Amino acid sequence: MHQLPPAQPGMRETDVETPALILDLDAFEFNLDTMARTVAGTRVKLRPHAKTHKCPVVAQLQMRRGAIGQCVQKIAEAEAMAWGGVNDILVTNEIVDPRKLARLAALSSIAQVAVSVDSLKHITLIEAAAQAAGIRMSALIEIDVGAGRCGVAPGAEAVELARHIANSRHLAFAGLQAYHGTAQHLRSAADRRQAIGKAILACEQTVEALSRSRIPCGIVSGGGTGTFELEAASGVYTELQVGSYCFMDGDYAANLEEDGQPFGLFQHSLFVLASVMSTTKPGLAVLDAGHKAVAIERGLPTVWQQPELRIVSAADEHARMEYPPALAAPELGERFRLVPRHCDPTVDRFDWYVCVRAGRVESVWPITARGGMQ
Ligand SMILES: *Cc1c(COP(=O)(O)O)cnc(C)c1O
Repeated sequence: MHQLPPAQPGMRETDVETPALILDLDAFEFNLDTMARTVAGTRVKLRPHAKTHKCPVVAQLQMRRGAIGQCVQKIAEAEAMAWGGVNDILVTNEIVDPRKLARLAALSSIAQVAVSVDSLKHITLIEAAAQAAGIRMSALIEIDVGAGRCGVAPGAEAVELARHIANSRHLAFAGLQAYHGTAQHLRSAADRRQAIGKAILACEQTVEALSRSRIPCGIVSGGGTGTFELEAASGVYTELQVGSYCFMDGDYAANLEEDGQPFGLFQHSLFVLASVMSTTKPGLAVLDAGHKAVAIERGLPTVWQQPELRIVSAADEHARMEYPPALAAPELGERFRLVPRHCDPTVDRFDWYVCVRAGRVESVWPITARGGMQ
């Protein structure tokens, strides 16, 4: 159930009810344009991951700039995107529950959908769902390119599964899901280059093995915000599934470029706006945004452009912010922008983006795929 938006267009950002999720539109549009421009010079297509933003409005803005569709992790996200007008959706995950597969099949009347598999059992389940719905569903085989999570081994195992898909009546083999999640946050550029180098080799070997078996491989999809330039230049990946780039977060800002400088291609556009609620102790201001408002599983948020202010702890509904004794105490009700350490789960805590430009609320967008486990 959506709560009322915490802001209306025209309001000043400093009047927005807190905690609120702020999207700085200038920085956000800069990020979308930067990615679109970077990808335009390559042979890969952009299919951003909606698990980051969970909002069809964001998806539409990405697609208006050339993205070919969206990736999703869950069926509820696929539904929110399809119902919001996204007509080409790739589920980058394995789905097992037949009811969920029936929901996915039901979307195929309004969108092109594809789903990832890494076992014969998945193929049997999807075939049954597609048959029951009277459709043909596209399936990608997930190969483990180094993350050690889902996916079969590259090469023969993948070919074996592809053959089953190609031979089934209600499925079409669409290609390979080959995302290297753990490479994204390797801090040094050399480590990321090495990890993705192995992923590229794994994809090349698998595509060649498929081709020897006369099974054409259309899509090779992978790449996140930390490594997408490597996949884009690989010659074997055909699609990128970057998510976080549109918002950035503290964790990605800790990555280093080849020259040792902090990762600076994108700007922070996503913030949790918090208010000072108590200042009874010297050097300490208590803010009204705890870890129910901002994800802290990868670390505490920072205060935007005020490094002298430090968030030192976060409880359910409170954060402690320390300030140097030389500074005057923040006022009760004073607003601060917090930079989340991890954008995706932070977005999932809110019903609305409060979209801001030059200090004023320009619009509010519902985060329709947030929450829930389905
Ligand atoms: C999270 C995720 C992405 C996007 O990664 P970012 O690091 O947010 O750019 C892409 N693909 C899959 C499978 C993911 O889980």
